[in-house]
Amino acid sequence: MAAPIYLDHSATTPVDPRVLEAMLPYFCERYGNPSSVYGLGREARKALDDARQTVAEILRASPQEIVFTGSGTEADNLAIKGVAKAMRAEGKGNHIITTQIEHHAVLHTCQALEEEGFEVTYLPVDRTGLVSPEALEAAIRPTTVLVSIMYANNEVGTVEPIAELAAIACAHGIYFHTDAVQAAVALPLDVEALGVDLLSLSAHKFYGPKGVGLLYIRRGVPLFPQVHGGSQERRRRASTENVPGIVGLATALRLADEEREAYVGHCRPLRDRLIQGILDAIPYAHLTGHPTQRLPNHASFCFEFVEGESILLKLDQHQICASSGSACTSGALEPSHVLTALGIPPEMAHGALRLTLGKATRPEEIERVLEVLPAVIADLRAISPLYAERAGTRP
Ligand code: PLP
Repeated sequence: MAAPIYLDHSATTPVDPRVLEAMLPYFCERYGNPSSVYGLGREARKALDDARQTVAEILRASPQEIVFTGSGTEADNLAIKGVAKAMRAEGKGNHIITTQIEHHAVLHTCQALEEEGFEVTYLPVDRTGLVSPEALEAAIRPTTVLVSIMYANNEVGTVEPIAELAAIACAHGIYFHTDAVQAAVALPLDVEALGVDLLSLSAHKFYGPKGVGLLYIRRGVPLFPQVHGGSQERRRRASTENVPGIVGLATALRLADEEREAYVGHCRPLRDRLIQGILDAIPYAHLTGHPTQRLPNHASFCFEFVEGESILLKLDQHQICASSGSACTSGALEPSHVLTALGIPPEMAHGALRLTLGKATRPEEIERVLEVLPAVIADLRAISPLYAERAGTRP
C-alpha cells in the first residue's frame, strides 16, 4: 500500500532522522540524571547545557532565560499563570489581554484565571484573522499585567504583527507573551527583533519529539512556578529534565533555523498551487485566514454545503491525512471558535478543511489532492438537500 499523503503538519510533524540520531544515545547509554554528581550525570548535564545554549543562540536570548517544559501547552500555562499570579502578588493588577483566536492552551488558561478573579479581555480579529494594534491599545488598563497574542494561528495560518503589538505593550510597561508554537519552522524567532518578553515553543511542530517544549522568559520578568518540586530549571519548573527530548528539541530547532529559507522556498509555491487549484476547481469554496500574511505551508478553507468531518473521512479513504482545523467539542460539532471569531457563519464553519504542508511534501501529492478533493466535495454535495435547494439559486 502506498504511503499516505500527510497534509497535517500543523497537528504534528515526523521526527527528523537527524533529530532521532542525536537523541538516541540519551536513552540507553548516557542515561544519567543531570542533577547527579558522577560522570554519567555530568554527561547528561553537559547535553542539557549545550541544548540550552543552542536554543538561546537561535532565539537571541541568554541560556538562563530558557525553561524547558513538557509541551507547548505547559509553556503557555507557565507564561500566563506564572506572570499573572506573580504580578497580582506584587499588587500590580489583575487584567490580561489576549485574543479570541488563541489555541485552547491559552484560552482555557485565561478562563481558569478568570475563575480565580482575574479579568481577561479577548480581542476580536478582522475577517482575515488579524488583531488590530489600535484595539490592543484601546484595551489596555492601568491594571493590565500581561498581553498574550499568538504569532501564527493554527487553524487559519494568519501571522500576527507581533513586533508591532509587542511594542505597544512595551510602551505601557506591560509584559508580552507570544505562543509561537506554529511559527517555529517558518518564521524568525529572534526575541529581540520581536520585542517579546515570553515565547512558547513545542518540539513536535518542528520535526522534534512530542512531549517537550520551552518557554523563553526575559530576564527580570516575575514568574511563579506552576510545577512544584525540585530545583530544576532554576526553580521555575520542577522535575527531572527530559534529556533525550531536550536534545531532540534543540537539534530540531537548529535544523529549522538553518533550513528555514529552504523550507519556505519549498512549501510556499506548493501551497499557492494547492490554494489556487482548489479555488478554481471547487465552487462555493472560500480560503480562510489572511490571503498573504499566512504561514507558507498553510492552506485552509470552508466549503459551503458540506461537513468538514465527512470530507476528512472521504480523504482518509484516499489515504490523504488532513484536518478540519477545529476540535469538535463534546461530540456536538460546535463550530470552531477561530472561524466564528473571523465572522464565518456556523453553517459555513462546519465545512472547514485544513491542509498543512511539510518539507517532504511533493508536487505529485498536491496534484493528487487536486484530483481527489473536487470529486469528494461533489459527492458529498450530491447527497446534501441544502445544496440541491440553495446552490441552484446562487450566482
Ligand atoms: N499552541 C498552538 C498554537 C498549537 O497549535 C498547539 C498544538 O496544536 C499548542 C499550543 C499546544 O502544543 P502541545 O501539543 O505541545 O501541547
